[in-house]
Amino acid sequence: MKPQDFPAFIRSLLIPAPGGELVYRCIGCGRQYGIGELLYTCPFCHSVLLIDDLAFERLKAVPGARWRQIFDYRKMLTIPALRGIYRYHEFIGPTIPLDAVLYLGEGHTPMVEANANLQARAGLRFYFKNDGQNPSASFKDRGMASALSYIHYLLNSGKLRHVLAVCASTGDTSAAAALYAAYLQPVVKSAVLLPQGKVTPQQLSQPLGSGATVFEIPGVFDHCMKVVEALSESYPVALLNSKNAWRILGQESYAYEIAQDFEYDLTGKVVVVPVGNAGNITAVMNGFMKFYRAGVVDELPKIVGVQSAHADPVYRYYAQSPPEKRKFAPLSVQPSVAQAAMIGNPVSMPRVIHLTAAYNRLAGCERVFFVQVSEQQIMDWQLTANRNGHIACTHGGESLAGLVAARKRRLIAADETAVVDSTAHALKFSGFQQMYFSDSFPPEFEVVPRPDLTNSPIRVASPVAGKLPDAGNPDDHEALALFVRRVAGRIAETLGLKNESASGRMQ
Ligand SMILES: *Cc1c(COP(=O)(O)O)cnc(C)c1O
Ligand SMILES: [Zn+2]
Repeated sequence: MKPQDFPAFIRSLLIPAPGGELVYRCIGCGRQYGIGELLYTCPFCHSVLLIDDLAFERLKAVPGARWRQIFDYRKMLTIPALRGIYRYHEFIGPTIPLDAVLYLGEGHTPMVEANANLQARAGLRFYFKNDGQNPSASFKDRGMASALSYIHYLLNSGKLRHVLAVCASTGDTSAAAALYAAYLQPVVKSAVLLPQGKVTPQQLSQPLGSGATVFEIPGVFDHCMKVVEALSESYPVALLNSKNAWRILGQESYAYEIAQDFEYDLTGKVVVVPVGNAGNITAVMNGFMKFYRAGVVDELPKIVGVQSAHADPVYRYYAQSPPEKRKFAPLSVQPSVAQAAMIGNPVSMPRVIHLTAAYNRLAGCERVFFVQVSEQQIMDWQLTANRNGHIACTHGGESLAGLVAARKRRLIAADETAVVDSTAHALKFSGFQQMYFSDSFPPEFEVVPRPDLTNSPIRVASPVAGKLPDAGNPDDHEALALFVRRVAGRIAETLGLKNESASGRMQ
C-alpha cells in the first residue's frame, strides 16, 4: 500500500527518520562509547558491549497502542528497507538512515502451529518459528542485516573506505556474513574461519558460493574464535561474530516479531531457544525488555534456553546453587548434532548473566530458565517434528526436546503457549538425519536410532534385461509399456495396493 493511502493519523509515523542516541555500553564497567567506529570490547575493562539508546525515554512518550498500530500498518508498506528487521526501526537501529538498510529478505519468519498429534506429545500448545526460512537459512541473517547496514552507513558517510569482514563460525554465521558482505562487494570483502570437519557440507558450500575467502582451522569453534579475536585486535578488520553488538541489536527483531504475531499479547507465552555462543538468547531477552519498557507489550514471556549435555556451560552455570556462589567455567565440548551450538566458552556469557538478572528483576519473578537435553532426545524430537509436517533442524529438535524437558520439570504449565525456535533449515543438517537412518553415528554422539523413526529409499530393480527402453524411440513402445506395468506392479505390491481396475471402479 502507498503511504498516501493510509489513514491520516498514522501517515507521518510510517516512515521513520533517523533518531535516537546510540552508544556502546560496557556490560562490565558500564562505560559508554560513541558508535562512530567499530568497537567490540570495552577498551577499559575488555568486557563485551551492548548498544544502548540514551534517548530511549522518547519511545515511552508514544503510547503502547500507537506503537502497535505503527508496526501493524508498516506491515502493509512495500518499501524494502521497512520489510525486514527495520520495521522496528526505532527499536532496532534508529540512527541508521533507510538508504543504508540492507534488506535481503530476512526476518518475519513464519510461526507454524504444531499439529494436534505433536502438541499432545509435547503436552501443550506450541508453534515452531521457522528461522530456516531466512535468506541464508538460519536466524543469523537478522544480526547480519543489522551489522552490514551499520557498515553500509559508515561507508556512505565516509567514515570507512573499504571493509574486510571476518568471523569465526560453526557454519551459519559464515554463511550469513559472506552473503550480506557479497551484496556490498567490492567495497566489502569477507573472510571466514571454520573448524575443519565441524560444519556440514551445505554450510561449507554457502560462503564459498558467496565468494568469501574460507579458512578451515584445526580444532573446534572456540579455537577459531580465539584466532579471529587476535586478528581483530591487531589488524584493520570488521568482526562479524556476535561479540559485535550490532549483531545482537538486529537479532532482537526475533522478539518483536513474536510479539507482533501474537498481537502483542504475551500472557502465558514461552519462548524456547537453543544456546551456543548465547547471542540469540541475549537478543531475545533484550528485545522483550525494550518492548516491555516502552509499553508495546504488558507482559514478559518466559524464556527457556536449551543446551545439549555435550555442550552445556550455560546450563551448568545456572544449575549451581545458591545463585550468589555461581562461577562460570568454560568447558571442552563433545560432538553434538546441534553442531551450530557446540560451544564451550560462549562469548555472550557476561551478557546472559547481566540480562537474565535484569529480566527476572523487571518481571518481578523468575522468568528465564535453562534446561539440558541428550543427543538422543535432540535427534528423536527433530525427526518426530518433521514426521508431523515441520522442517526443523537439529537445533529445532533441541528446542522441542527442551520444551518437553521444561514441561517435565514443571517450569511450564499445560495451559501456556510456546514458540520453539528452529534456528536453521533442516536441509543444512540432513547429514545427521542420514547418520540416524543408516545407524552410522560415531559412538561419541551416543545416538541409537529408533526403528520407528528411521527411513530409507526402496530401490526397485530393473524388470527388464539389458538396456532400458527409450521413451523417445517408437520401436521401444511395447517394451516401455511392459517396463512401466512391471515397475508399477512392484510399487503397488510394496504399498499393499489392490488392483481395482477389474471391477471398473478406476475407469
Ligand atoms: C548460531 C546458531 C545457534 C546458536 O545460537 P547462539 O546465538 O550462538 O547461542 C543455534 N542454532 C543454529 C542453527 C545456529 O546457527
Ligand atoms: Zn568496561
